[in-house]
Amino acid sequence: MKHHFNFSLKNYNTFGVESVARELIEFDEEEELLKFFRDNIPENKLILGGGSNILFTKDFEGTVIHYKKKGIEILSEDDNEIILRSHAGEDWDALVEFSVQNNWYGIENLSLIPGTVGAAPVQNIGAYGVEMKDCLIEVEGVSLLELKKEILPAAKCNFGYRTSIFKEKLKNQFLITAVVIKLSKTKKLNLDYRALRDYFQGRNFEEIDINEVRKGVIEIRQSKLPNPSELGNAGSFFKNPVIDEERLSYFQSLYRDIPYHKIGEAIYKVPAAWLIEKAGLKGKRIGNVDVHKNQALVIVNYGDATGKEIIDFAEMVKNTVNEKFGIKLEYEVNII
Ligand SMILES: Cc1cc2nc3c(=O)[nH]c(=O)nc-3n(C[C@H](O)[C@H](O)[C@H](O)COP(=O)(O)OP(=O)(O)OC[C@H]3O[C@@H](n4cnc5c(N)ncnc54)[C@H](O)[C@@H]3O)c2cc1C
Repeated sequence: MKHHFNFSLKNYNTFGVESVARELIEFDEEEELLKFFRDNIPENKLILGGGSNILFTKDFEGTVIHYKKKGIEILSEDDNEIILRSHAGEDWDALVEFSVQNNWYGIENLSLIPGTVGAAPVQNIGAYGVEMKDCLIEVEGVSLLELKKEILPAAKCNFGYRTSIFKEKLKNQFLITAVVIKLSKTKKLNLDYRALRDYFQGRNFEEIDINEVRKGVIEIRQSKLPNPSELGNAGSFFKNPVIDEERLSYFQSLYRDIPYHKIGEAIYKVPAAWLIEKAGLKGKRIGNVDVHKNQALVIVNYGDATGKEIIDFAEMVKNTVNEKFGIKLEYEVNII
């Protein structure tokens, strides 16, 4: 366990913005945390993983909790399935790589998503037609309200599009210390997503193997998304908005090329990136902040931007889209 005071979070967030935490405590074990907070659970607390889905807009006048335990273990297996438990401090992509190397199917489409395993259920990470909830059995953790260990089965996690109980009701109240997932040992690939179908165009889909899918996902991501170690960013800054059939028909009468994806009875998801681009903001730069030229969902810090400058820029994007389309974009990134 390490205890820091007045700690700079600049290297603890992928936007690379400066923010000083009054206190940061790094824990390696659940028991340490339970013992440390036994008499006094801080009121103002923030759970921090790899900082790849967070924007600090100011200093944090509270206690940052950083849980570091790594490791992946097999809980059980049969001829068809394997159940793995990964500790929360493990790198998410290390878990994906390990699974792919062993030909265990289910999370290969989630390759190269930055961050920790512990944060993956928080926003129910998703990419290329697969979400965390698809393989999750349960989440282990510590309730920071009652200071006791708890296990939450997937059915109680309220998973939705880029959300869960950990991003809403239990935000900063439940420290995820491990996740238990189920993967398939029999070949089961999900190549329905357009970008993947395009990538494998001309190939016999039956012959594609899991390693090729991981490689494909990595190549597609690297061609579109800025690498946070080179350009500060937190991936998609906005969620894709959901609209009803009436609004979709109205937009179709104005823009015949509007892309959409049906997600329920008369409910559609429209790409926020398309709205931002149509609002003329793709590549727009103010000072050291811009809308990325290859992916309009991503806001980039070119160097020394402050969190305040980035959030002001994001508000400008939100307002411009709202003025043009009457759609209020929501942030996917956690704003602190
Ligand atoms: C280049 C880039 C690409 C990305 N692509 C995708 C993508 O394709 N799909 C996608 O879904 N996301 C994507 N993201 C967002 C991000 O990688 C994920 O949300 C990731 O799960 C965040 O992990 P983290 O450890 O960095 O979490 P952090 O940013 O540290 O925290 C995120 C949230 O989770 C909470 N949290 C963190 N750890 C725990 C824990 N152990 N227990 C309880 N709460 C916790 C935090 O309080 C915070 O609210 C991308 C980000 C980047 C920079």
